[in-house]
Amino acid sequence: MIYLDHAAGTPVSDRVLKAMKPYFTEEFFNPSAAYLPAKRVSADYEAAKGVIAHTIGAKAHDLVMTAGATEANNLAFSTVALDGTCLYLATEHDSVRKVAEKHDGASIAVDKNGRILLDDLKAKITDETMLISVALANNELGTIQPLSEIAAIIRKVRLDRLSRGIKQPLYLHSDASQALNLLNVNVARLGVDLLTLNAAKIYGPKGVGCLYVSHDVKLSPLFVGGGQEGGLRSGTENVPGVIGFAKAVEDTAAHLNGNRKKYAQWKQILLSELQGYELVNKKHSLDNFVVLCYNGIDAERLIFLLEEKGVYVSTGAACAASKGEKSHVLSAIGLSDSEIAGSLRLTLGETNTKEQIHEAARLINEAVESERRRCA
Ligand code: PLP
Repeated sequence: MIYLDHAAGTPVSDRVLKAMKPYFTEEFFNPSAAYLPAKRVSADYEAAKGVIAHTIGAKAHDLVMTAGATEANNLAFSTVALDGTCLYLATEHDSVRKVAEKHDGASIAVDKNGRILLDDLKAKITDETMLISVALANNELGTIQPLSEIAAIIRKVRLDRLSRGIKQPLYLHSDASQALNLLNVNVARLGVDLLTLNAAKIYGPKGVGCLYVSHDVKLSPLFVGGGQEGGLRSGTENVPGVIGFAKAVEDTAAHLNGNRKKYAQWKQILLSELQGYELVNKKHSLDNFVVLCYNGIDAERLIFLLEEKGVYVSTGAACAASKGEKSHVLSAIGLSDSEIAGSLRLTLGETNTKEQIHEAARLINEAVESERRRCA
């Protein structure tokens, strides 16, 4: 098998699995219980949160642990429910886009690389705007957004509001699900007030994520109950999941630079050996994303042909693909229907080797040739 769909999911690493295991069995205690072994588990849980928080320049109490990024994104938008409107980037993952639409959010346009149009952002901010959501890196294109430039615009708006006596707060939320693997993520440097992280994209367990919440942001819980996570996320803590998440974050941070170099080299091999044209200029995209367009070819058929040869690739977000919907991301960057139909996403990761990359290029070229012959 040559797996080139790491943006959809990554296997749990051996180190992560080993760290999680005891918390399913001998250390199974509910962290809220009063006896000593449970207190020990509670301390381990808090320490794991501390590790995750430290990596992004935050403190354990700034994090609300969730069952994945979808929940974290939805929780971020609970700010808007308090009293305000929201803006979101047109290319956001559905877990942002659909909750923003529920709050009548307006979308911000992107250029042909999927980069935010800052003038459109500026034009759409009103005195009621309370939340702006822009993913640090896009899950279909790998496009990296200039978050600190967006944060600078937001700071200006805040000052202007202050000078006019307008008390409405304005927050920046970013979904960093795809970015944590490849970029140095620091909340202060990015200038974000809310940040979503996802264990499932960094060789941690699925269904585990968190929302970083800056101390001045008010949220309302999505559901109520035992009051865990500062009352923002009731329910018994997922101790093994969070322990695994922390180990995955630690490993990711330790290998960040080496992995970036490795993926950049492999990406270059694919770009030079494959025929399709690159959709996003590589200076704006994550090193492990290769998104190509084979205009006139049906990428769904390519996926099918490649699967028969043991190569797993994708046409876009796994969830959109499974519903057979046209990608809103590829539409937003201005592709025609036939270009969208011919777009292929390859995302590199830890399961790959350099030999696999050459072999995948050969098999993809073969599949494209066979499709071109069939169409002719
Ligand atoms: N946000 C982004 C950018 C993603 O890529 C994903 C998963 O594909 C999600 C959110 C949703 O994550 P989960 O399915 O773990 O809730």
